[in-house]
Amino acid sequence: MTIHLNQYPALVLNADFTPKSVFPLSTLNWQDAAKGVFLGKYVRVVDYEASIKTRTQEYVFPSVIAMKDYVQVKNGVPFNRHNIWIRDEGKCAYCRDPLKMNEFTFDHVKAQTHGGITEWTNIVCACQPCNGKKASKTLKEAQKAGLTLHVTPHVPTVYEIASKARRLGGFGPTPSEWIDFLYWESELER
Ligand SMILES: [Zn+2]
Repeated sequence: MTIHLNQYPALVLNADFTPKSVFPLSTLNWQDAAKGVFLGKYVRVVDYEASIKTRTQEYVFPSVIAMKDYVQVKNGVPFNRHNIWIRDEGKCAYCRDPLKMNEFTFDHVKAQTHGGITEWTNIVCACQPCNGKKASKTLKEAQKAGLTLHVTPHVPTVYEIASKARRLGGFGPTPSEWIDFLYWESELER
């Protein structure tokens, strides 16, 4: 029986059982996972219901493994186009129209001409017409022009992005064994 390397990937958790990395998702192919478990670098958390048998042994593929020792990770979601779109759920922050990832514009809530900076707390997704209408207006002035900001620009957590990404079709097919470890902020689905 041949097992391809891309079958039975293992989700890698840190020693505190949070994903070691969400962007990109920390995974190992089954061979590296097997090696790491054998060497004592990882412990098994959940197994797949699948195994390979040799004449003398049976190896059960681990589905979720955790680091034996905690590793310090850089927390936080990278500030980039993709993640801003996900945080704002693929919609214009003003008119709530759905926007494709390649067609939205960044709106500086506090305009750059007024000293507004380019960071999570001052950037929202906007369609071109709303962005044009908003221009360098303050939120108050924009409201008078009929534009209401419907989102609060904020620094997202990895779990917020993970659950929103999932609703937007994010990680693609995910083994059911991984769900409890990935989507703490969404209801559990099976
Ligand atoms: Zn709009």
